[in-house]
Amino acid sequence: MIKIGVLGAGGRMGQAIIAEVAQTADSWIAGGVERAGHPLCGSVIGDGLVVCANAAPVAHKADVLIDFTSPAALEEHLRAAMDGNAAILVGTTGLEPAHHAAIDAAARSIAVLQAANTSLAVSLLALLVERAAAALDSEWDIEIAEMHHRHKLDAPSGTALLLGDAAARGRGGSLQNLRLPPHDGGSALRKPGGIGFASLRGGTVAGEHQVIFAGEGERILLAHSAEGRDIFARGAVRAARWLARQPAGRYSMADMMRSSAGPAAL
Ligand code: NAD
Repeated sequence: MIKIGVLGAGGRMGQAIIAEVAQTADSWIAGGVERAGHPLCGSVIGDGLVVCANAAPVAHKADVLIDFTSPAALEEHLRAAMDGNAAILVGTTGLEPAHHAAIDAAARSIAVLQAANTSLAVSLLALLVERAAAALDSEWDIEIAEMHHRHKLDAPSGTALLLGDAAARGRGGSLQNLRLPPHDGGSALRKPGGIGFASLRGGTVAGEHQVIFAGEGERILLAHSAEGRDIFARGAVRAARWLARQPAGRYSMADMMRSSAGPAAL
């Protein structure tokens, strides 16, 4: 049995994770964490309580924590995971370089998987984007378009950046160097080989991503549509169960997919 602690238990993803764990035979909820004052504080989920503003007691009971909260909470959650010797899956997006440095530091003593998108199909899409970018020369412009619900704060989405990273890797470069500034009607022409982004926000869209390879007289489109949050929860719970058995280190969804190769990986 794998004991899972849910950070952000009252959130949209937290609730989807709790529902997914309830359907998973070898896992149970060891407890949840919410911010102070949340109505869920003190209520029971699975076999544990929802604790407020303190991840430590849940980390001590859990084999693995699943964190879909906010970047501001990340360092405290990593510290709790290290103190409780629990693995942690970080699904929160909008992370800055300092957050990534904190994840690298934590990964020296515990297993950490960070993924801007925990859908198993998006992990496959990233591999396809990398291959397509490697096969096409820089005459093919790469543009990544995304749309999300009106509440989403960060833009471009973490998934768009993850797909941009994959495209940059395929081009043998880094997104830091290849990322184009927003196309805002300025006079500069598009830089050859660059990777552009466009973000739309509105309604209740769970997540739409399109990677467009635009060549002379033709285009290739690689796309993913999320129809609900359950796909992120399914991938996150599956990855968390895998992560709980890994030694200390930093992992990605691709690492998890590679270790369970074949169509069953989806
Ligand atoms: P949400 O606002 O519905 O839920 C976030 C929850 O975290 C809230 O209940 C909030 O009270 C709680 N929270 C905030 N600070 C906290 C703290 N310090 N301790 C404990 N709980 C705290 O948001 P959401 O739609 O569930 O998304 C959460 C995050 O996950 C966002 O960054 C979002 O972009 C990301 N996300 C990632 C994926 C993925 O596949 N990786 C998928 C969907 C959403």
